[in-house]
Amino acid sequence: MKKVVKFGGSSLASADQFKKVGTIIHDDENRRYVVPSAPGKRFSNDTKVTDMLYACYESAVKGEDFSGQLADIRERYQEIIDGLNLDCSLDQDFEVIRENFQNEAGVDYAASRGEFLNGKIMSSYLGFEFVDAAEVIRFNDDGSFNAGATDELLSARLQDTDAAVVPGFYGAKSDGTVVTFSRGGSDVTGSLVALAVRADLYENWTDVSGFLIADPRIVKNPKSIETITYKELRELSYMGASVLHEDAIFPVRKAGIPINIRNTNAPEDKGTLIVESTCRQPKYTITGIAGTDGFASITIEKAMMNSEIGFCRKVLQVFEDNGVSIEHMPSGIDTMTIFVNKNSFEEKEQKILSDIQRAVHPDHVELESDLALVAVVGRGMKSTRGTAGRIFSALAHAHINVKMIDQGSSELNIIVGVKHEDFKNAIRALYEIFVLTQI
Ligand code: ASP
Repeated sequence: MKKVVKFGGSSLASADQFKKVGTIIHDDENRRYVVPSAPGKRFSNDTKVTDMLYACYESAVKGEDFSGQLADIRERYQEIIDGLNLDCSLDQDFEVIRENFQNEAGVDYAASRGEFLNGKIMSSYLGFEFVDAAEVIRFNDDGSFNAGATDELLSARLQDTDAAVVPGFYGAKSDGTVVTFSRGGSDVTGSLVALAVRADLYENWTDVSGFLIADPRIVKNPKSIETITYKELRELSYMGASVLHEDAIFPVRKAGIPINIRNTNAPEDKGTLIVESTCRQPKYTITGIAGTDGFASITIEKAMMNSEIGFCRKVLQVFEDNGVSIEHMPSGIDTMTIFVNKNSFEEKEQKILSDIQRAVHPDHVELESDLALVAVVGRGMKSTRGTAGRIFSALAHAHINVKMIDQGSSELNIIVGVKHEDFKNAIRALYEIFVLTQI
């Protein structure tokens, strides 16, 4: 059995955290491929090493003296090396980094050094081979990710390697220019390594015990989700629940490798298992509740709209031409409502309204801002009667007016639109009915 283990920044922020990670890895001999992030925050107002690197490089590019900033970064690593009593020197590495910063090697190169150096320390601490991600994670000349070349390079390189450390977050073009994924991208590296070694499991270790049924900033001590399917995860992430980088899902999902989100600070917790499909029924009817604020709606009304061929297309064209993405589109017989992100709509509001007038000559257009969408997601909803009824009675009891209802045809989710001021109460009311007073 082979497991790939990725550790996030907070799991590797200090020597003490490294020790926890070491224990986790030694605890299971299948944990053979390790993907580390850069050291994250040690306490709440600490700075992540990646952010220190961005700032330091910015000073270098401006021609300012960046030696103090680089020394602070070095100090972060030295603290870890000393705390672990390692015989590992980063002198040479820092000399190379200083020179490359001076020669403006690129902002991605700068940011990637956080993972590179942490990978070196990790390799020396565990006695696992260090594999530089620049050699095995390939980007195209235009900066886009090259999945095919990466899989070839990575699997060939790791084929005869029993245990390795591959730093997260970056790779390189074929000419050696370093390129990073977007922020949080070490999750993606972990997924690529899992695919390359055909792992049985991709463990993603972070500082929470997996996904929670609802946002803990809104619901007090929400329960965690034991098993979630990729489809459910997509619905919840779209609505703002985030633990994992979106691009981390595709490579392992394609290969049928489950992801297990685990907590470095509570390794006894089972965390959340993300799978393609499962016959394990969720404990509650729903798997999770998520929501996002900041929507606006445009309701277009016109008599006999239902029989006017091409009406919807013309309206949608207006949004496309103005570069505004449509989030939801519930419709009635003579009305259609478009939900959009409030900020992106506001910039083009007047232009869009006049374009709609010209395109479809509506009888009436109504705008509403400060809306929120709340999604109740769960594979268990499909076979359960009365889920919608419970949602609406819970909201009614909490004196919340429902402005929009959207149930996907997959029956995997029900989305309701509410006023901004009802947003948090709606989530609390739904959590209460489905989890706390579970019938
Ligand atoms: N260190 C990078 C960041 O802070 C990448 C990662 O942690 O995944 O975004």
